[in-house]
Amino acid sequence: PLILAIESSCDETAAALVDGNGALLADVVASQVDFHARFGGVVPEIASRKHIEAICGVCDECFDVAATTLAVPKLTWEDLDAVAVTYAPGLVGALVVGVAFAKGAAWAADKPFIGVHHLEGHLYANKIGAPDFAPPAVVSLVSGGNTLLVHVKDWGDYETLGATIDDAVGEAFDKVAKALGLGYPGGPAISRHAKEGDPDAIAFPRAMMHSGDLRFSLSGLKTAVVTYLNNERAAGREVDVADVCASFQQAVVDVQVKKARMALEQTGAPTFCLGGGVAANPALRDAYQALCEQMGVRLVLPPFSACGDNAGMIALVALDRYRQGRFFGLDADAQAHANLDEPY
Ligand code: ATP
Ligand code: MG
Ligand code: FE
Repeated sequence: PLILAIESSCDETAAALVDGNGALLADVVASQVDFHARFGGVVPEIASRKHIEAICGVCDECFDVAATTLAVPKLTWEDLDAVAVTYAPGLVGALVVGVAFAKGAAWAADKPFIGVHHLEGHLYANKIGAPDFAPPAVVSLVSGGNTLLVHVKDWGDYETLGATIDDAVGEAFDKVAKALGLGYPGGPAISRHAKEGDPDAIAFPRAMMHSGDLRFSLSGLKTAVVTYLNNERAAGREVDVADVCASFQQAVVDVQVKKARMALEQTGAPTFCLGGGVAANPALRDAYQALCEQMGVRLVLPPFSACGDNAGMIALVALDRYRQGRFFGLDADAQAHANLDEPY
């Protein structure tokens, strides 16, 4: 089959085309990040409007790239076997644009319509670099809006083991970057500066390190960094940005690795993988490499290009759904929240 998938849950407008072998024939992403950067974060209303402006062009480009890949003169909606879209979770106004567009296209071309959970997409992104990746596994989903550990018992069969009780990891990176004046998004900037810094320079708190469960808390860490910066500036001392970044990042990594170890011990899963924008963080990837080597667990990482939001990962979920004949009706709606544990 040939399936086109659309992703518009946050600030990336994306479309991808997958074939029956799981090969991505096209994987197009139009990021709005520049429009949001001057506000220091994603502005939902701007995101919705930019999706509307971009979505037709992104799909056209997706068809063009896939036609080139297949060496055929042209591809259109008529050539598809299904149209898929991220239906949840995310900014509802942003999701609605993708969902309405995909439903309209599916109806007009008389193709089945498939809804995909965004976080299941981030999990499937691991398949892009490792086609043989398969459950059972533990996945750590770390992004701008989510932070959780999930037991992947089978494709489509998920149990959340623990999640953040306040901020997401990516959100903490973005807030700390803002406090340091490093711009938005903060993750890439912080990980760049951290490379030059000393991770032991400042003792930031490791929240819930010894909570005995798999929950996380990030808001106290962000506050600790802001308090540190205020105190240093008030005392007239110059702040070493690299040291702050390295120490903050190390505090995050220590807790993430500790809880990942617990999740692997608890489930006995033979494989560990990552998903979401923060999965691109080199220090986190290195720390998991060491953990998994030590535990004799297979580590699978999404390619750097597939950590952030993209439609390729949504297309890979859609291919499984297509094979199972699990389609959505055209009355399906976008949802801001949806639990990954509940089958859909
Ligand atoms: P969700 O997937 O929860 O709906 P989202 O789609 O907004 O949220 P993603 O696009 O998957 O999130 O990830 C974006 C986040 O990843 C941002 O918070 C960004 O700062 C963070 N990020 C990107 N690169 C890095 C990095 N190298 N280190 C740490 N964080 C990073
Ligand atoms: Mg994004
Ligand atoms: Fe995401």
